Amino acid sequence: MTHMPENVWRLYTEDRLGPDDRERCDHHLLTCDACLDVYLRCVEQMSESLPVPDMDVFAETAMLHWAEQTAQASISSSKEAKGCSDKRRSWMRHPVFHYTVAAAITLILMGSGVFQIFTQQASAWDANASDWMKQHPPSWSEQLMEQTVGLIAALQPKPKQEERRGKRDE
Ligand SMILES: [Zn+2]
Repeated sequence: MTHMPENVWRLYTEDRLGPDDRERCDHHLLTCDACLDVYLRCVEQMSESLPVPDMDVFAETAMLHWAEQTAQASISSSKEAKGCSDKRRSWMRHPVFHYTVAAAITLILMGSGVFQIFTQQASAWDANASDWMKQHPPSWSEQLMEQTVGLIAALQPKPKQEERRGKRDE
């Protein structure tokens, strides 16, 4: 397998590649861990040079887009193959897309660790399960959301964000 040089990944992250090259990168990422590392590093570097988005707004927007895409995919999965590509392209051009991809990939990579946390929490809840807990089981999607937002925030350790996260952690 021929690896892509780092500068190609940088161009890919900044969406400055031609359609053919971009597609080759898309496919290569799926099969090559070494280049995935390089790509994630590029995303991290890019995130340092970008203005810090409001994480609450960003998370909301990302989830909205995700929900839209999922809904579209389930309604017209047959159309998805040839249509929708313009919409998809423009979404892929957005830097936010790369944040989301990186966060999703990180989630997958540390999948076992994440599930361990869930399991530990679940057993803690079992130990002192109150009636309220039984009636209101914690939402897994909410927890996953928390994890994702946390990871995305970790990608851009800016002082201002640090302050805000610190407050939330208390
Ligand atoms: Zn490679």
